[in-house]
Amino acid sequence: MATETTLILFKPDAVSKGLVGTVLSRYENEGFKVKGLKMMALSDEILAEHYSHIADKPFFPDVRSFMQESPVVALALEGEDVISRVRDLLGPTDSKEAAAGTIRGDFGDKGGDAKMRNVCHASDSPEAAEAELKRFFNPGEIVA
Ligand code: ADP
Repeated sequence: MATETTLILFKPDAVSKGLVGTVLSRYENEGFKVKGLKMMALSDEILAEHYSHIADKPFFPDVRSFMQESPVVALALEGEDVISRVRDLLGPTDSKEAAAGTIRGDFGDKGGDAKMRNVCHASDSPEAAEAELKRFFNPGEIVA
């Protein structure tokens, strides 16, 4: 097992529902450490880059609008195997398919927006984490 750092975004649904503290506690209760934390509004440009893998999907404009409903909270989180363990804590993309006890299962949208309003983004590989940490944090904003 390796000590890794992952990039998490608390999406606008998490911010508007007041879930940032509750979800952050789940991460901290796993023993993961906060290494960087800030609020930021996401531009069209950063969203096009971050979601380039879904940019050609018909739902992409809705995802972009959703991600711009409010600033998001960006979190750099460190721990053993944190990248895959946070993905397990989150559950699958579709909140309706996410098991109870997972973050998306407990807090994601259970209506027509279940695939979109799913509380948090988290990096899905070491390569993605490295690129995404650079995308959302400036040098010096992540502590050693
Ligand atoms: P994940 O965030 O679980 O890694 P993806 O990278 O596939 O999922 O998709 C990025 C984000 O785009 C999702 O978290 C979700 O907010 C949105 N999304 C994915 N698929 C759909 C869909 N079919 N309809 C609406 N929004 C979607």
